[in-house]
Amino acid sequence: MTKCGICGGLGLVRVMTEEGLWASRACECQEALKEERRLAAAQIPERYKHCSLDSYDPHYAGADTTLSKALMTARRFVEDYPVNTGGIGLLFLGSIGVGKTHLAVGVLKRLVAERGARGLFCDYRELLKSIQNSYNPQVHVTELELLKPVFAAEVLVIDDLGAQKPNEWVWDTVALILNARYNDKLTTIITTNYGNLPAGGGASSEVERAAREQTLGDRIGDRMRSRLQEMCQIVDMQGKDFRQSVKRARFG
Ligand code: ADP
Repeated sequence: MTKCGICGGLGLVRVMTEEGLWASRACECQEALKEERRLAAAQIPERYKHCSLDSYDPHYAGADTTLSKALMTARRFVEDYPVNTGGIGLLFLGSIGVGKTHLAVGVLKRLVAERGARGLFCDYRELLKSIQNSYNPQVHVTELELLKPVFAAEVLVIDDLGAQKPNEWVWDTVALILNARYNDKLTTIITTNYGNLPAGGGASSEVERAAREQTLGDRIGDRMRSRLQEMCQIVDMQGKDFRQSVKRARFG
């Protein structure tokens, strides 16, 4: 960070009070420093650091009208937080590459920077992997130590929910995290590529079931899928993969 032009890096400035006495107060650069520290603590991965609501383009070739609605919902959410959101988060649903993580990070950054929220970004698969790893006696970090910040974050982004192949342990771990956050009325922002349907996806036979795509219910269990409907506002995002569309447009 460059030295502040106002306080020269002291963090304090001298001001004259109404009584005509000199006093010290925190320089405005301190607020910027705190904001920088909160953003660093949110652990947004390098590849998503550029994402913001202002840099999201809802009108690229291949975009669907749901994308402008999603951007509007994200902006409104930031305006409403925290009083009018009441602990309800956002669940961004849709195909790969439509910018679900981009919007989730855009919201997270604004809440951390402008609302002073303690936020945290978590990649679902990496989180589960590190929890599993913590059961190894040679690893000196416990499951609880790993989960503490996930339980405590005022705003938590869980990216790519359902990406890990499901089993009993995966379902129990997702339930542990979501139930803890639900009980504490903490804001959770989620992205997923899976359809918001129960396990089985409405298929009536085994053959149908095998042929159709997996649903969110299949990946995290029906109980947790239904919990998410209570915890989050659903934001549907459809369209073609942004990067592919931009590349195609550029190279004709
Ligand atoms: P998803 O989470 O839906 O799979 P991402 O948010 O990971 O998609 O997007 C992939 C990349 O494309 C990211 O670098 C993101 O910044 C960019 N991107 C996607 N959609 C848009 C958009 N509408 N405007 C600007 N950048 C976008």
